[in-house]
Amino acid sequence: MINRICISINNQCNLGCKYCHFHEKGILEDSEMNIYEILDNVKNYAKSDFKIGFVGNGECFLVWDQLKSYISYIENYDNISSYTITNGTVSLTDEDWMFLESHNVNVGFSLDGYKELHNMNRCDSFDKVIKNVEEYKRVTGHYPTFNATVGKESIHNADKVISFFKYYGTRVTFSRMIGKQGISLQEYRDFLSLAEKHISIRRGGLDCTMYGGQCGAGKNNYFFANGKVYYCGNCIDLPPVGDSSMRFEELEKISLQFDRNYCFKESL
Ligand code: SF4
Ligand code: SF4
Repeated sequence: MINRICISINNQCNLGCKYCHFHEKGILEDSEMNIYEILDNVKNYAKSDFKIGFVGNGECFLVWDQLKSYISYIENYDNISSYTITNGTVSLTDEDWMFLESHNVNVGFSLDGYKELHNMNRCDSFDKVIKNVEEYKRVTGHYPTFNATVGKESIHNADKVISFFKYYGTRVTFSRMIGKQGISLQEYRDFLSLAEKHISIRRGGLDCTMYGGQCGAGKNNYFFANGKVYYCGNCIDLPPVGDSSMRFEELEKISLQFDRNYCFKESL
């Protein structure tokens, strides 16, 4: 059963992070995608808890009015919850932060850790991100969750990274950096084992090995972008599974067989 999807609502970003694979040549397209149609398909399909992530190829807050309209579109569906991830550089008004809060939208800020580490790959955006994290806290009364990419530098400074996040007291979703600066699955798993002794982290489940769980490709979660549906955000440079209008009943029939303790894409 499919129980989560991510939807990339735009292909624009105001940053150019060094490790961003979305912005490699050829991955981004400007194809139209009817997001309301995807949401309708979810409404028709979801009989139990279903999670929608408004996250993908770009920065969602750059198209705030659209994001707000998609969230409103699913607001009366108790079994559908949503979250979004921001790069933290776009400031919202108090009213907008409260809109997200009152619609129970979990907001994750992409923040890799202490200033030098974060700025190394994320365009010197640390100060702006922290300012918006504090704004979020001032308006909602609590800190947001965080999404942090773990590369070689984080592994070498694991204690410093972990104590940085300890201050905020909220959950951190770490993800494994892949590519040239990437780390091995074992290095990443060792990092998570250390981190979970000190802070709340997302881990386990049928989801993605990059988050410390099993690979959910071709099973329970899909990624919608560029008018197409893909196995996951990292599989966007593989041939798509189908068009974004594809119904979930059809997607459900696809069942990839492989060892889910390893990343499907890396095993190709
Ligand atoms: S903020 Fe996200 S989408 Fe934008 S360049 Fe960085 S990693 Fe890529
Ligand atoms: S294919 Fe790899 S990146 Fe995609 S969901 Fe599976 S483990 Fe994660």
